[in-house]
Amino acid sequence: MRLDKFLCKSTALARADARRVIHAGQVRVNGALITTEATQVHENNHITLNGRRLIARPSRYLMMHKPPGTQCSNVDGVYPSLLHRLGLDKTCDLHIVGRLDADTTGLVLVTDDGRWSYNIISPQKRCEKVYRVGLRDPLADEVTSRFARGLLLQGETSPTLPAGLEVVGPNEALLTLTEGRFHQVKRMFAAVGNRVLSLHREQIGNIRLDIGPGQWRHLTADEIDGF
Ligand code: URA
Repeated sequence: MRLDKFLCKSTALARADARRVIHAGQVRVNGALITTEATQVHENNHITLNGRRLIARPSRYLMMHKPPGTQCSNVDGVYPSLLHRLGLDKTCDLHIVGRLDADTTGLVLVTDDGRWSYNIISPQKRCEKVYRVGLRDPLADEVTSRFARGLLLQGETSPTLPAGLEVVGPNEALLTLTEGRFHQVKRMFAAVGNRVLSLHREQIGNIRLDIGPGQWRHLTADEIDGF
């Protein structure tokens, strides 16, 4: 990881303060003075601040039940930031794994471990995300096979990866995706002439949402090890 990130993970410093102490020549990596914040370091390196050895805190892995009218970002914008609702310290280190639209609800994973989140987000890893979708119009029979074959979305040149559609009511379905394109669910249903009225993410890989709206919890070791 970057040296400034390591400092944030091992001290109470915010990212800007971490950069300041690095530029000021207060940080050494394996005995060498380092003044560039982007220098890559490993947690096992001997890193000191003013001569004191720093040890990185273990990574954090959380699930959150996103309520409607919040935005998946570290800062407040048009809608309040989901991360601010966590009430944790050092949320600047955390990132959201696979954003949801402001009006979408459900399972959001939050971590500071970029390698772990890559395994969830990267389309190559084929990690399944399950969405419960409420629709304006009843589902036409052929939609399941069209989603299974892949669709060309407006403005794109490659079709969507095969997606699983399970119809659970006349206007409700469970959709399983292994990629996360911009507004993908809404655009897939728009491509077959329908409209998404409600959207809720229930599951990511082996992790199922099991807490109420606005709540969060730490992930279990099994949940973390699934990726
Ligand atoms: N697809 C969407 O269209 N919106 C979301 O929030 C998530 C997936």
